[in-house]
Amino acid sequence: MRYISTRGQAPALSFEEAMLTGLARDGGLYVPESWPRLTRDQIAGFAGQPYEDVAVQVMRPFVGDTFTDDEFAGIVSRAYAGFAHAARCPVKQLEPGLFLLELFHGPTLAFKDVAMQLIGQMFEHSLKRQGRRVTIAGATSGDTGSAAIEAFRGLDAVDVFIMYPHGRVSEVQRRQMTTPSEPNVHTIAVDGDFDDCQAPLKDMFNDFEFRDGVSLAGVNSINWARVLAQVVYYFTAGVALGAPHRPVSFTVPTGNFGDIFAGYVARQMGLPIEMLVVATNQNDILHRTWVTGEHRKEGVRPSISPSMDIQVSSNFERLLFDIYDREPQAVAQLMTALKDEGGFALSQGALERLRDGFTSGVASEAETSAEIARTLERSQELICPHTAVGVKVAREQPASAAPMVVLATAHPAKFPDAVEEATGQRPPLPPHMADLFDRTERITRLPNDLAAIQAFVAENRT
Ligand SMILES: *Cc1c(COP(=O)(O)O)cnc(C)c1O
Repeated sequence: MRYISTRGQAPALSFEEAMLTGLARDGGLYVPESWPRLTRDQIAGFAGQPYEDVAVQVMRPFVGDTFTDDEFAGIVSRAYAGFAHAARCPVKQLEPGLFLLELFHGPTLAFKDVAMQLIGQMFEHSLKRQGRRVTIAGATSGDTGSAAIEAFRGLDAVDVFIMYPHGRVSEVQRRQMTTPSEPNVHTIAVDGDFDDCQAPLKDMFNDFEFRDGVSLAGVNSINWARVLAQVVYYFTAGVALGAPHRPVSFTVPTGNFGDIFAGYVARQMGLPIEMLVVATNQNDILHRTWVTGEHRKEGVRPSISPSMDIQVSSNFERLLFDIYDREPQAVAQLMTALKDEGGFALSQGALERLRDGFTSGVASEAETSAEIARTLERSQELICPHTAVGVKVAREQPASAAPMVVLATAHPAKFPDAVEEATGQRPPLPPHMADLFDRTERITRLPNDLAAIQAFVAENRT
Protein backbone atom coordinates (compact mmCIF):
# COMPACT_ATOMS: atom_id res chain seq x y z
CA MET A 1 0.00 0.00 0.00
CA ARG A 2 1.37 3.45 -1.00
CA TYR A 3 0.39 6.77 0.59
CA ILE A 4 -0.31 9.92 -1.43
CA SER A 5 -0.64 13.55 -0.37
CA THR A 6 -4.03 15.28 -0.43
CA ARG A 7 -2.31 18.18 -2.23
CA GLY A 8 -0.59 16.09 -4.89
CA GLN A 9 2.85 17.73 -4.76
CA ALA A 10 4.73 15.37 -2.42
CA PRO A 11 6.19 11.96 -3.29
CA ALA A 12 4.16 8.81 -2.61
CA LEU A 13 5.49 6.98 0.46
CA SER A 14 5.37 3.56 2.10
CA PHE A 15 3.49 3.10 5.37
CA GLU A 16 6.74 3.34 7.33
CA GLU A 17 7.81 6.57 5.62
CA ALA A 18 4.37 8.15 5.99
CA MET A 19 4.32 7.20 9.68
CA LEU A 20 7.78 8.62 10.40
CA THR A 21 7.06 11.82 8.45
CA GLY A 22 3.57 12.90 9.58
CA LEU A 23 2.76 15.96 7.47
CA ALA A 24 3.51 15.77 3.71
CA ARG A 25 6.09 18.19 2.31
CA ASP A 26 3.49 20.04 0.23
CA GLY A 27 1.52 20.82 3.40
CA GLY A 28 -0.99 18.05 2.65
CA LEU A 29 -1.91 14.91 4.58
CA TYR A 30 -1.03 11.37 3.58
CA VAL A 31 -3.89 9.06 2.66
CA PRO A 32 -3.82 5.51 1.30
CA GLU A 33 -3.88 5.30 -2.46
CA SER A 34 -7.10 3.23 -2.22
CA TRP A 35 -9.40 1.85 0.49
CA PRO A 36 -8.94 -1.88 1.12
CA ARG A 37 -12.19 -3.79 1.67
CA LEU A 38 -12.85 -6.59 4.12
CA THR A 39 -15.42 -9.23 3.17
CA ARG A 40 -18.63 -9.69 5.14
CA ASP A 41 -17.32 -13.05 6.34
CA GLN A 42 -14.07 -11.52 7.55
CA ILE A 43 -16.00 -8.92 9.54
CA ALA A 44 -18.41 -11.51 10.93
CA GLY A 45 -15.36 -13.53 11.98
CA PHE A 46 -14.21 -10.75 14.34
CA ALA A 47 -17.03 -11.63 16.75
CA GLY A 48 -15.63 -12.87 20.03
CA GLN A 49 -11.99 -12.27 19.11
CA PRO A 50 -9.62 -10.35 21.44
CA TYR A 51 -9.11 -6.67 20.58
CA GLU A 52 -5.50 -7.27 19.54
CA ASP A 53 -6.43 -9.99 17.04
CA VAL A 54 -9.02 -7.77 15.37
CA ALA A 55 -6.53 -4.90 15.37
CA VAL A 56 -3.94 -6.93 13.46
CA GLN A 57 -6.48 -7.99 10.82
CA VAL A 58 -8.00 -4.53 10.32
CA MET A 59 -4.66 -2.72 10.05
CA ARG A 60 -2.74 -5.39 8.11
CA PRO A 61 -3.68 -4.22 4.57
CA PHE A 62 -2.47 -0.68 5.37
CA VAL A 63 0.88 -1.66 6.85
CA GLY A 64 2.19 -3.51 3.78
CA ASP A 65 5.66 -4.97 4.19
CA THR A 66 6.79 -2.47 6.85
CA PHE A 67 6.43 -5.22 9.47
CA THR A 68 6.21 -9.01 9.16
CA ASP A 69 3.07 -10.67 10.54
CA ASP A 70 4.93 -11.72 13.68
CA GLU A 71 6.52 -8.32 14.22
CA PHE A 72 3.20 -6.58 13.81
CA ALA A 73 1.39 -8.94 16.17
CA GLY A 74 4.13 -8.29 18.78
CA ILE A 75 3.86 -4.52 18.35
CA VAL A 76 0.08 -4.59 18.77
CA SER A 77 0.26 -6.80 21.80
CA ARG A 78 2.87 -4.58 23.55
CA ALA A 79 0.85 -1.46 22.69
CA TYR A 80 -2.26 -2.56 24.57
CA ALA A 81 -0.68 -4.54 27.41
CA GLY A 82 -0.82 -1.44 29.65
CA PHE A 83 -4.56 -0.89 29.25
CA ALA A 84 -6.49 -1.30 32.45
CA HIS A 85 -9.44 -3.20 30.88
CA ALA A 86 -9.18 -6.70 29.38
CA ALA A 87 -11.47 -5.73 26.49
CA ARG A 88 -9.24 -2.66 25.81
CA CYS A 89 -12.15 -0.62 24.38
CA PRO A 90 -15.31 -2.03 25.99
CA VAL A 91 -18.87 -1.17 24.95
CA LYS A 92 -21.26 -0.23 27.76
CA GLN A 93 -25.02 0.19 27.47
CA LEU A 94 -26.58 3.45 28.69
CA GLU A 95 -30.16 2.92 27.57
CA PRO A 96 -32.06 0.84 25.02
CA GLY A 97 -30.36 1.52 21.69
CA LEU A 98 -27.73 3.86 23.21
CA PHE A 99 -24.18 2.74 24.04
CA LEU A 100 -20.83 4.15 25.12
CA LEU A 101 -17.59 2.94 23.55
CA GLU A 102 -15.09 3.43 26.40
CA LEU A 103 -11.78 4.55 24.92
CA PHE A 104 -10.16 5.80 28.13
CA HIS A 105 -8.59 2.73 29.72
CA GLY A 106 -5.05 3.60 28.57
CA PRO A 107 -2.30 5.25 30.69
CA THR A 108 -3.48 8.89 30.29
CA LEU A 109 -7.22 8.20 30.53
CA ALA A 110 -8.18 9.48 27.05
CA PHE A 111 -8.74 7.84 23.69
CA LYS A 112 -5.51 9.18 22.24
CA ASP A 113 -3.64 6.42 24.06
CA VAL A 114 -5.22 3.88 21.72
CA ALA A 115 -3.28 5.30 18.80
CA MET A 116 -0.27 6.72 20.58
CA GLN A 117 0.72 3.55 22.43
CA LEU A 118 0.73 1.75 19.10
CA ILE A 119 2.74 4.53 17.41
CA GLY A 120 5.34 4.42 20.20
CA GLN A 121 5.90 0.71 19.60
CA MET A 122 5.97 1.11 15.80
CA PHE A 123 8.44 4.03 15.94
CA GLU A 124 10.74 2.17 18.28
CA HIS A 125 10.77 -0.88 16.03
CA SER A 126 11.38 1.10 12.81
CA LEU A 127 13.98 3.50 14.18
CA LYS A 128 16.01 0.76 15.86
CA ARG A 129 16.04 -1.22 12.65
CA GLN A 130 17.20 1.85 10.69
CA GLY A 131 19.67 3.00 13.36
CA ARG A 132 18.04 6.47 13.36
CA ARG A 133 16.98 9.09 15.91
CA VAL A 134 14.07 11.49 15.49
CA THR A 135 12.71 14.58 17.18
CA ILE A 136 9.00 14.29 17.74
CA ALA A 137 7.18 17.60 17.88
CA GLY A 138 3.52 17.93 18.70
CA ALA A 139 0.90 20.52 19.58
CA THR A 140 -1.83 19.55 21.97
CA SER A 141 -5.14 20.87 23.19
CA GLY A 142 -4.50 18.65 26.21
CA ASP A 143 -4.77 14.94 25.58
CA THR A 144 -2.47 14.31 22.62
CA GLY A 145 0.52 15.69 24.50
CA SER A 146 0.27 13.47 27.51
CA ALA A 147 -0.51 10.46 25.34
CA ALA A 148 2.61 11.15 23.23
CA ILE A 149 4.77 11.64 26.30
CA GLU A 150 3.52 8.37 27.82
CA ALA A 151 4.20 6.56 24.56
CA PHE A 152 7.75 7.90 24.02
CA ARG A 153 9.16 8.65 27.47
CA GLY A 154 12.50 7.00 28.02
CA LEU A 155 12.84 5.61 24.47
CA ASP A 156 16.41 5.79 23.11
CA ALA A 157 15.73 6.87 19.55
CA VAL A 158 13.36 9.76 20.26
CA ASP A 159 13.17 13.23 21.79
CA VAL A 160 9.65 14.46 22.33
CA PHE A 161 8.70 18.18 22.38
CA ILE A 162 5.09 18.97 23.22
CA MET A 163 3.52 22.44 23.01
CA TYR A 164 0.27 23.23 24.76
CA PRO A 165 -1.68 26.52 25.08
CA HIS A 166 -0.67 28.12 28.37
CA GLY A 167 -3.51 28.15 30.89
CA ARG A 168 -5.96 26.35 28.60
CA VAL A 169 -5.59 22.73 29.64
CA SER A 170 -6.95 21.12 32.78
CA GLU A 171 -4.64 20.65 35.75
CA VAL A 172 -4.70 16.87 35.34
CA GLN A 173 -3.80 17.23 31.67
CA ARG A 174 -0.98 19.65 32.46
CA ARG A 175 0.47 17.53 35.24
CA GLN A 176 0.40 14.43 33.05
CA MET A 177 2.65 16.32 30.60
CA THR A 178 4.92 18.15 33.03
CA THR A 179 5.68 15.47 35.64
CA PRO A 180 7.49 12.75 33.64
CA SER A 181 11.17 13.15 34.57
CA GLU A 182 12.86 11.42 31.60
CA PRO A 183 15.37 13.76 29.91
CA ASN A 184 13.96 13.04 26.42
CA VAL A 185 10.63 14.67 27.40
CA HIS A 186 10.26 18.47 26.87
CA THR A 187 6.99 20.27 27.60
CA ILE A 188 6.45 23.84 26.35
CA ALA A 189 3.65 26.20 27.40
CA VAL A 190 2.94 28.53 24.45
CA ASP A 191 1.05 31.82 24.76
CA GLY A 192 -2.31 31.71 22.97
CA ASP A 193 -4.90 29.06 22.10
CA PHE A 194 -4.52 25.64 20.51
CA ASP A 195 -4.48 27.02 16.98
CA ASP A 196 -1.60 29.30 18.08
CA CYS A 197 0.33 26.13 18.97
CA GLN A 198 -0.65 24.28 15.85
CA ALA A 199 0.46 27.10 13.49
CA PRO A 200 4.16 27.22 14.52
CA LEU A 201 4.18 23.42 14.52
CA LYS A 202 3.05 23.38 10.90
CA ASP A 203 5.56 26.12 10.03
CA MET A 204 8.33 24.12 11.66
CA PHE A 205 7.47 21.16 9.42
CA ASN A 206 7.44 23.42 6.36
CA ASP A 207 10.93 24.74 7.17
CA PHE A 208 12.73 21.88 5.41
CA GLU A 209 16.22 22.87 6.53
CA PHE A 210 15.15 22.78 10.16
CA ARG A 211 12.97 19.74 9.63
CA ASP A 212 15.81 17.70 8.13
CA GLY A 213 18.41 19.13 10.54
CA VAL A 214 16.66 17.76 13.63
CA SER A 215 14.89 14.82 11.88
CA LEU A 216 11.50 16.15 12.81
CA ALA A 217 8.63 13.66 13.04
CA GLY A 218 5.00 14.45 13.79
CA VAL A 219 2.54 12.45 15.83
CA ASN A 220 -0.38 14.87 15.84
CA SER A 221 -3.66 13.48 14.63
CA ILE A 222 -2.52 14.32 11.09
CA ASN A 223 -0.22 11.28 11.30
CA TRP A 224 -1.90 8.58 9.24
CA ALA A 225 -0.81 5.82 11.63
CA ARG A 226 -2.91 7.42 14.37
CA VAL A 227 -6.04 7.51 12.30
CA LEU A 228 -5.43 3.91 11.34
CA ALA A 229 -5.18 2.71 14.96
CA GLN A 230 -8.57 4.29 15.64
CA VAL A 231 -10.31 2.40 12.84
CA VAL A 232 -10.05 -0.79 14.87
CA TYR A 233 -12.51 0.09 17.64
CA TYR A 234 -15.26 0.89 15.17
CA PHE A 235 -15.00 -2.73 14.07
CA THR A 236 -14.86 -4.24 17.56
CA ALA A 237 -17.83 -2.12 18.72
CA GLY A 238 -19.80 -2.64 15.52
CA VAL A 239 -19.38 -6.40 15.63
CA ALA A 240 -20.23 -6.53 19.35
CA LEU A 241 -23.57 -4.89 18.51
CA GLY A 242 -24.48 -7.11 15.59
CA ALA A 243 -22.52 -5.94 12.53
CA PRO A 244 -22.21 -6.98 9.77
CA HIS A 245 -25.71 -8.47 10.15
CA ARG A 246 -27.19 -5.13 11.18
CA PRO A 247 -25.93 -1.58 10.73
CA VAL A 248 -24.62 0.51 13.61
CA SER A 249 -24.33 4.31 14.01
CA PHE A 250 -21.66 6.30 15.82
CA THR A 251 -21.66 9.78 17.37
CA VAL A 252 -18.17 11.19 17.75
CA PRO A 253 -17.15 14.21 19.88
CA THR A 254 -14.99 15.97 17.35
CA GLY A 255 -12.19 18.54 17.22
CA ASN A 256 -9.49 17.78 14.69
CA PHE A 257 -11.76 15.29 12.85
CA GLY A 258 -9.30 12.42 13.34
CA ASP A 259 -11.45 10.11 15.39
CA ILE A 260 -14.52 10.44 13.18
CA PHE A 261 -12.46 10.14 10.02
CA ALA A 262 -11.39 6.73 11.34
CA GLY A 263 -15.10 5.82 11.35
CA TYR A 264 -15.35 6.88 7.73
CA VAL A 265 -12.39 4.61 6.95
CA ALA A 266 -14.13 1.69 8.70
CA ARG A 267 -17.17 2.30 6.52
CA GLN A 268 -15.03 2.47 3.36
CA MET A 269 -13.59 -0.90 4.41
CA GLY A 270 -17.04 -2.48 4.53
CA LEU A 271 -18.34 -2.02 8.09
CA PRO A 272 -22.08 -1.21 7.76
CA ILE A 273 -22.25 2.17 9.50
CA GLU A 274 -25.63 3.81 9.00
CA MET A 275 -24.75 7.27 10.29
CA LEU A 276 -21.60 9.02 11.45
CA VAL A 277 -22.63 11.96 13.62
CA VAL A 278 -20.17 14.86 14.09
CA ALA A 279 -20.68 16.31 17.60
CA THR A 280 -19.05 19.66 18.38
CA ASN A 281 -18.99 21.97 21.37
CA GLN A 282 -19.51 25.73 20.97
CA ASN A 283 -16.48 25.78 18.68
CA ASP A 284 -18.67 24.46 15.93
CA ILE A 285 -16.92 25.04 12.61
CA LEU A 286 -17.66 21.45 11.58
CA HIS A 287 -21.33 21.56 12.56
CA ARG A 288 -21.72 24.83 10.63
CA THR A 289 -20.06 23.22 7.64
CA TRP A 290 -22.66 20.46 7.56
CA VAL A 291 -25.55 22.86 8.06
CA THR A 292 -24.50 25.72 5.75
CA GLY A 293 -22.05 24.16 3.28
CA GLU A 294 -19.49 26.78 4.27
CA HIS A 295 -16.30 25.97 6.14
CA ARG A 296 -15.39 29.20 7.88
CA LYS A 297 -13.12 29.91 10.90
CA GLU A 298 -14.26 31.95 13.88
CA GLY A 299 -12.33 32.70 17.07
CA VAL A 300 -11.87 29.85 19.53
CA ARG A 301 -13.96 30.16 22.69
CA PRO A 302 -12.56 28.16 25.64
CA SER A 303 -15.05 25.52 26.80
CA ILE A 304 -15.46 22.81 29.44
CA SER A 305 -14.53 20.27 26.73
CA PRO A 306 -11.11 21.83 25.96
CA SER A 307 -9.80 19.00 23.81
CA MET A 308 -12.31 20.08 21.17
CA ASP A 309 -11.57 23.83 21.31
CA ILE A 310 -10.40 23.98 17.73
CA GLN A 311 -11.33 25.91 14.61
CA VAL A 312 -8.72 24.51 12.24
CA SER A 313 -9.79 20.90 11.91
CA SER A 314 -6.76 19.32 10.27
CA ASN A 315 -8.09 15.90 9.36
CA PHE A 316 -11.11 17.37 7.60
CA GLU A 317 -8.75 17.77 4.65
CA ARG A 318 -8.72 14.00 4.25
CA LEU A 319 -12.49 13.90 3.84
CA LEU A 320 -12.36 16.88 1.47
CA PHE A 321 -9.95 14.90 -0.69
CA ASP A 322 -12.51 12.11 -1.11
CA ILE A 323 -15.57 14.31 -1.59
CA TYR A 324 -13.66 16.23 -4.28
CA ASP A 325 -13.05 12.95 -6.14
CA ARG A 326 -9.45 12.80 -4.93
CA GLU A 327 -8.50 15.90 -6.97
CA PRO A 328 -5.44 17.35 -5.20
CA GLN A 329 -5.64 20.70 -7.03
CA ALA A 330 -9.16 21.24 -5.70
CA VAL A 331 -8.04 20.49 -2.13
CA ALA A 332 -4.97 22.73 -2.41
CA GLN A 333 -7.20 25.62 -3.56
CA LEU A 334 -9.62 25.15 -0.66
CA MET A 335 -6.81 25.03 1.86
CA THR A 336 -5.29 28.21 0.44
CA ALA A 337 -8.67 29.93 0.77
CA LEU A 338 -8.94 28.70 4.38
CA LYS A 339 -5.54 30.15 5.18
CA ASP A 340 -5.86 33.44 3.26
CA GLU A 341 -9.58 34.20 3.44
CA GLY A 342 -10.60 32.30 6.57
CA GLY A 343 -12.90 29.86 4.81
CA PHE A 344 -14.57 28.51 1.68
CA ALA A 345 -17.90 27.26 0.36
CA LEU A 346 -18.21 23.63 -0.74
CA SER A 347 -19.36 22.89 -4.28
CA GLN A 348 -22.90 21.48 -4.57
CA GLY A 349 -21.61 18.02 -5.49
CA ALA A 350 -19.12 17.96 -2.63
CA LEU A 351 -21.79 19.08 -0.16
CA GLU A 352 -24.08 16.24 -1.22
CA ARG A 353 -21.29 13.73 -0.69
CA LEU A 354 -20.42 15.37 2.64
CA ARG A 355 -23.98 14.82 3.89
CA ASP A 356 -24.18 11.26 2.60
CA GLY A 357 -24.01 9.06 5.69
CA PHE A 358 -22.83 11.94 7.88
CA THR A 359 -24.76 14.41 9.97
CA SER A 360 -23.85 16.84 12.76
CA GLY A 361 -24.94 18.47 15.99
CA VAL A 362 -23.69 20.91 18.61
CA ALA A 363 -23.87 21.17 22.40
CA SER A 364 -23.60 24.49 24.23
CA GLU A 365 -21.81 24.74 27.56
CA ALA A 366 -25.09 24.57 29.47
CA GLU A 367 -26.32 21.61 27.42
CA THR A 368 -23.05 19.77 28.04
CA SER A 369 -23.35 20.23 31.80
CA ALA A 370 -27.00 19.23 31.74
CA GLU A 371 -26.13 16.05 29.85
CA ILE A 372 -23.50 15.04 32.42
CA ALA A 373 -26.19 15.37 35.09
CA ARG A 374 -28.88 13.62 33.03
CA THR A 375 -26.67 10.63 32.18
CA LEU A 376 -25.79 10.20 35.85
CA GLU A 377 -29.43 10.38 36.84
CA ARG A 378 -30.72 8.04 34.14
CA SER A 379 -27.89 5.50 33.94
CA GLN A 380 -25.74 5.96 37.06
CA GLU A 381 -22.79 6.77 34.83
CA LEU A 382 -20.34 9.68 35.26
CA ILE A 383 -19.17 10.90 31.86
CA CYS A 384 -16.55 13.48 30.85
CA PRO A 385 -17.66 16.73 29.17
CA HIS A 386 -16.44 15.64 25.70
CA THR A 387 -18.43 12.44 25.95
CA ALA A 388 -21.41 14.50 27.14
CA VAL A 389 -21.30 16.58 23.97
CA GLY A 390 -21.59 13.30 22.08
CA VAL A 391 -24.41 11.87 24.20
CA LYS A 392 -26.43 15.09 23.91
CA VAL A 393 -26.10 15.13 20.12
CA ALA A 394 -26.77 11.38 19.87
CA ARG A 395 -30.07 11.75 21.77
CA GLU A 396 -31.27 14.25 19.14
CA GLN A 397 -30.87 11.85 16.23
CA PRO A 398 -34.01 10.43 14.62
CA ALA A 399 -35.10 7.01 15.94
CA SER A 400 -33.51 4.12 14.04
CA ALA A 401 -33.18 0.37 14.31
CA ALA A 402 -29.41 0.82 14.23
CA PRO A 403 -27.90 1.02 17.72
CA MET A 404 -26.20 4.36 18.44
CA VAL A 405 -22.69 4.22 19.90
CA VAL A 406 -21.17 7.36 21.44
CA LEU A 407 -17.40 7.41 21.63
CA ALA A 408 -16.48 8.05 25.29
CA THR A 409 -13.23 9.88 24.66
CA ALA A 410 -11.94 10.56 28.19
CA HIS A 411 -12.32 9.33 31.75
CA PRO A 412 -14.42 11.73 33.88
CA ALA A 413 -11.53 12.09 36.37
CA LYS A 414 -9.54 13.88 33.69
CA PHE A 415 -12.03 16.79 33.86
CA PRO A 416 -13.12 16.69 37.51
CA ASP A 417 -14.13 20.36 37.79
CA ALA A 418 -16.71 20.21 34.99
CA VAL A 419 -18.07 16.92 36.28
CA GLU A 420 -18.33 18.16 39.86
CA GLU A 421 -19.98 21.38 38.77
CA ALA A 422 -22.61 19.41 36.86
CA THR A 423 -23.29 16.65 39.40
CA GLY A 424 -21.82 17.58 42.78
CA GLN A 425 -19.66 14.44 42.54
CA ARG A 426 -15.90 14.64 42.09
CA PRO A 427 -14.66 11.61 40.13
CA PRO A 428 -11.49 10.18 41.77
CA LEU A 429 -8.32 9.43 39.80
CA PRO A 430 -7.66 5.72 39.33
CA PRO A 431 -5.10 4.31 41.82
CA HIS A 432 -2.06 4.36 39.48
CA MET A 433 -2.40 8.14 39.14
CA ALA A 434 -3.40 9.01 42.67
CA ASP A 435 -0.09 10.81 43.45
CA LEU A 436 -0.21 13.02 40.31
CA PHE A 437 -0.68 16.17 42.37
CA ASP A 438 2.43 15.48 44.47
CA ARG A 439 4.85 15.03 41.59
CA THR A 440 7.28 17.80 40.52
CA GLU A 441 6.47 19.73 37.34
CA ARG A 442 8.94 20.76 34.63
CA ILE A 443 7.70 23.36 32.06
CA THR A 444 9.27 25.88 29.69
CA ARG A 445 7.11 28.88 28.79
CA LEU A 446 7.68 30.35 25.31
CA PRO A 447 6.01 33.05 23.20
CA ASN A 448 3.97 32.00 20.19
CA ASP A 449 6.97 32.59 17.94
CA LEU A 450 8.47 30.17 15.45
CA ALA A 451 12.10 31.25 15.90
CA ALA A 452 11.98 30.96 19.69
CA ILE A 453 10.41 27.51 19.52
CA GLN A 454 12.87 26.27 16.91
CA ALA A 455 15.82 27.53 18.95
CA PHE A 456 14.54 25.71 22.02
CA VAL A 457 14.13 22.46 20.12
CA ALA A 458 17.56 22.69 18.51
CA GLU A 459 19.29 23.37 21.84
CA ASN A 460 17.51 20.85 23.99
CA ARG A 461 17.66 17.63 22.02
CA THR A 462 19.44 14.97 24.07
C1 LIG B 1 -8.69 14.82 21.10
C2 LIG B 1 -9.97 14.64 21.81
C3 LIG B 1 -11.20 14.79 21.13
C4 LIG B 1 -11.28 15.17 19.68
O1 LIG B 1 -10.75 14.18 18.83
P1 LIG B 1 -10.36 14.53 17.33
O2 LIG B 1 -9.75 13.30 16.77
O3 LIG B 1 -9.41 15.68 17.39
O4 LIG B 1 -11.64 14.89 16.65
C5 LIG B 1 -12.35 14.54 21.85
N1 LIG B 1 -12.31 14.22 23.16
C6 LIG B 1 -11.16 14.07 23.84
C7 LIG B 1 -11.20 13.73 25.28
C8 LIG B 1 -9.96 14.28 23.18
O5 LIG B 1 -8.80 14.13 23.86
